[in-house]
Amino acid sequence: MYMHTHLHHHHNPFLILLSVGVAAFASYTALDLVNCVTTTKGKWKWPWLAGGAIAMGVGIWSMHFVGMLAFHVPGLEIYYDLPLLLLSIVVAILSSALALYVVSYLQPTVMTYVAGSLTMGFAIAGMHYIGIWSMRMSASIIWDKLFVVLSIGVAVTASYLALFIAFRLRNKKAFEGYADRCFGGLLMGIAISGMHYTAMGAMQLIPDSSHVVINPNDLLASDGVAAGVLIATVLILGLALTGTSIERSLIKKTILNETLQASIKSRDDFFSVISHELRTPLTSIKMQNELIVRSILKKQVDETKILTMLEKSGKHIDRINRLVDDFLDVSRMSSGKLSLQRENFDIVLLINEVIDRHRPFLDEAGCEVFFQNNSSIIGCWDKFRIEQVITNLLTNAAKYAPGSPVNISVAEINKCIQIRVKDQGIGIVEEDQQRIFQRFERVLGNEDKRGLGLGLYITHEILQMHHGKISVNSGLNRGAEFIVELPLSPT
Ligand code: ADP
Repeated sequence: MYMHTHLHHHHNPFLILLSVGVAAFASYTALDLVNCVTTTKGKWKWPWLAGGAIAMGVGIWSMHFVGMLAFHVPGLEIYYDLPLLLLSIVVAILSSALALYVVSYLQPTVMTYVAGSLTMGFAIAGMHYIGIWSMRMSASIIWDKLFVVLSIGVAVTASYLALFIAFRLRNKKAFEGYADRCFGGLLMGIAISGMHYTAMGAMQLIPDSSHVVINPNDLLASDGVAAGVLIATVLILGLALTGTSIERSLIKKTILNETLQASIKSRDDFFSVISHELRTPLTSIKMQNELIVRSILKKQVDETKILTMLEKSGKHIDRINRLVDDFLDVSRMSSGKLSLQRENFDIVLLINEVIDRHRPFLDEAGCEVFFQNNSSIIGCWDKFRIEQVITNLLTNAAKYAPGSPVNISVAEINKCIQIRVKDQGIGIVEEDQQRIFQRFERVLGNEDKRGLGLGLYITHEILQMHHGKISVNSGLNRGAEFIVELPLSPT
């Protein structure tokens, strides 16, 4: 047995504070990088991961090293073995790469959490103890085993916390989540520092110069070294943050550019579709007019013939009117200027009226409509707008399912009504089923059918204003069933 006396050590409080600050800054940068790696696509993902791992690794390592430099023993000079110190940096970078990989590529399952926090925790603890191992001094270390185990526990817990926060924030839109990342970074910074200072608490030094071999290349710990490491770290982290902010502004620019291109294209499409849609009826009207003028000039007025021509023109004018109404509706809906005029009425009666009004059109399309509902259902809606909804669905059925029956039903369920309009036509493939409710969206291959792709958009908006909704049940060549749900009253 031999007696030894512990060397009294103390920590430089200023350096401790700085080390915690660096840890928080590194954590913030890490969260920022995770966001960038996650949102970046394609070949730029890997360079981001590599650069991010270096910045984050150096950040975490630097927290530990500054924490070690804060450790003072009066009268004892502490040197560091450079190769071992470098090894500890490499371990820090590798464990950061692992962390970035886990949160950027994997799903947050229990397995990911368990495996991720264990590996990262042990890697961080490894980095720390390699750092201690690189210490060269006239003293040897006595370990408090309980504290060593505790420090590894804290490292694993800190890693778990880091994964948790990073998974939460990784998909936040690049331009949001700033405050969350600050808070997350602070929390992670404190957790990482907690690991370090727990591990330092596990150490007791006793004077012992028997083993000490100081190499000429060994680094003598000093406040100057601490300052150098801190400045270098801040520069590296700053560089990483500059990188992420440049990346973000590039992404922002690309998105802006794409939106601009898309809106220019949709404007061009709009003009070409409108011109096409208007030209057909206008040409017809002009032709009918010329025929009428010619027959008057030739004094060969056949009244019945002229009447038929005028009726035809009237239909074309109706069509132009409907188009203009649709445009007005769309423009009012987009600017939020459309308001509802609610009144109590019977939906069953309204559906019957719409069917009757469109009888000629339905007959022409060869569509027999089946709607049987004897009891009335009264609700408080905008009659004109709900009529538009039913008209759109019914005329679409006749348009896209000519020659086959159309079934309409309406039922009252839980203070709501459910209207179903079912046809047996070409149907709509799944990929298009969401899109068709947006402005100007049509299914490709429908070019032979006239339309602007506004009917379902208007329908959808009207229903939304009534706090209702619309969905479609369909598949290619399986017919289409549109289901409308509408609350009976506004409340
Ligand atoms: P439009 O009929 O003027 O093109 P809509 O907004 O009414 O515009 O419909 C959008 C698209 O949805 C149509 O172009 C069509 O491809 C598809 N669609 C709508 N109703 C049906 C239906 N009953 N059967 C099959 N496809 C439909």
